[in-house]
Parts: sequence; structure tokens; C-alpha cells
Amino acid sequence: MNPPQTARERLELWDGKPYFPISQVYKNRFGSKVVKIPVSIADDCPNRAGIKGMQTCIFCDVHGSFAYPESQGDEIRAQITRHREKVAKRFNANRFLVYFQAYTTTFTQLGRLKEGFEAALEYPDVAGLVVGTRPDTLSDAVLRTWKEYSERTFVGIELGVQSFDDDQLIWMRRGHTGAQSIKGVERVAATGVDVGIHLIFGWPTENDKQIIETARLCNELPISNVKLHNLHVLKQTALEPLYHEGKFSPVDLETYSHRVALFLEHLSPRIAVHRLAALSSRWDELIAPDWTRHKMKSFQAILDYINDRGVYQGRSFRS
Ligand code: SF4
Repeated sequence: MNPPQTARERLELWDGKPYFPISQVYKNRFGSKVVKIPVSIADDCPNRAGIKGMQTCIFCDVHGSFAYPESQGDEIRAQITRHREKVAKRFNANRFLVYFQAYTTTFTQLGRLKEGFEAALEYPDVAGLVVGTRPDTLSDAVLRTWKEYSERTFVGIELGVQSFDDDQLIWMRRGHTGAQSIKGVERVAATGVDVGIHLIFGWPTENDKQIIETARLCNELPISNVKLHNLHVLKQTALEPLYHEGKFSPVDLETYSHRVALFLEHLSPRIAVHRLAALSSRWDELIAPDWTRHKMKSFQAILDYINDRGVYQGRSFRS
């Protein structure tokens, strides 16, 4: 699909949003609304396992970013059935992508990953598979497996890049570099599967120049989508004591909106956007910022900020 050139085309092709929403990609690809069913087959990651002295990422809680921690450890079919019912009701959808979300999905045995894929594909209303993982935990065998499955169904890979800035990556204890992320993206894209990345905004040293450079780097990469998160403080994370000691403050909603607007303005209109801010299903674990708690209100405030300034995705993009 060609990116929209005019305000009228943006209205039609982007569902009235100032950015290219991933929902439109799914509608075009699958012919109807498709939503994700989060599941977990992994229960660890290189950071938690302390590989090469790595430590748990500064923002990550004990559930490894899983939306339904109460289901962790349950048999995969039980997870799919239960979560499918929840998301179907919540989003009024009847087609799904099974999303292998928690921890580092590729830090588990390949046989387990394949079993999970086969279980997901038993459901006739499952339109494909999405795998979340780190950009530096990609064996050749995993890449081959994704390629094989992509001949049967849609396969999307979401890599937790978070930032391309090495100082920020060290601060968040990611254990990989920006260069490793770029290499990971390129290796996955070479298999022909769909590739997206996750980015976090709100780092202590972040500035406008970095945000623009991040957008420009995304434009050069073979990715089809990006998911944005704001850095928030959860209970039982390494960030929690830093917040209480006054060594870290999350950005306010206006500052975050400014960063999102700047990023979108420089992002190519060919790259779809999943969401504009973090979405936690475990609000009881959220410590700060409070605006993250008010999901719809904050989302609307970000949209208003963007629209009030006449910004739209790709406004300053030059190919
Ligand atoms: S964010 Fe991912 S890689 Fe980092 S500690 Fe959590 S599960 Fe592990």
C-alpha cells in the first residue's frame, strides 16, 4: 500500500489518525480486524539467567512483560483458549494472532517453540504467529524455523530494541548494543518474515536530536512496524529504588507527547505504529508516572498534542 500523500488520504487510509496504525495493516492483510492473544512459553531470559554477568533490565518486573502473569506455566492451549475469550470480548474481534510475549521467547528450547506454534495453528480463527524476543538471541535454527512457518502462515517478529543509544542501553542493563540490534533486525528480515521493533522513550539523557536520529534509523531498517512505550516505574524492578531515591523521574505527559510527535514527524509513512504509549495490564504494580494509569485519557492527550500542532507521521520525512 502506498503511503498517503494528502490529508484526505491520511484520513481514509489511516482511519483518521495522524499515524499509520497497525490495525490498518492487519485489515489490509487479513481482510478483517485481527487482535493478538498473548501467551507465554518462556520463563527466563539471558539477563535473568545472568549470562555473561548480565542483570535483569532496569524496568522489567518478575513477569517478564507478560500481560497475563496468572497464566504463566499453564499449558499453551489452555492459555490460548482463555486469553482468546478475553481479547475477543474486549476488542470485539473474531480473528487472532497468537503472540508469544513473555521473557525471551527464543531463550527456550526450539522444540518447545515449535510445539507452541503447532498448538496455535490448531485454531481455525488464528491468522498467524507473532514472537517477541531480544535482537541478540537469534540462532540460525530459530531463523530457519520462522522461515519455514512463514510458508504456512503469517509470522511476525517483534524485537525489543528499546534504544539504539549504547549509553542508554547500558543504563537499562539490556546487555546488548545498538549495533547488535541493527544486525538482529537485518538477520530476521533476511528470512522474509515480518519484523517490528519496540522502543522506549523517557530515558534520563534523551533529547530531541536522539529522537529524530532514532526515527531516521528506523526508516533505513527493513522493519514494517514499531511499538512505542514510555519508561514507567513498576514495583519490584531495579528502577523502583532509583525513583524513590530521586535518581530517576519519569517524563510528564506533555514531554512524552512531544517526543512521540517528533518521532512520528520524522518516521517514514510506510512504517506502521502499534501504539503510542505503554499499556500495562497490571496497574497495581505501577508506581509512576500516574498518567500511564489513565490509558484512554492519556492516549487522547497525546493525539491532541500531535493534532493541535498539525503534525502527522512522515511530515518531515525525506526519502
Ligand atoms: S525486558 Fe526481556 S530481556 Fe530484559 S529482563 Fe525482562 S524479560 Fe529479560
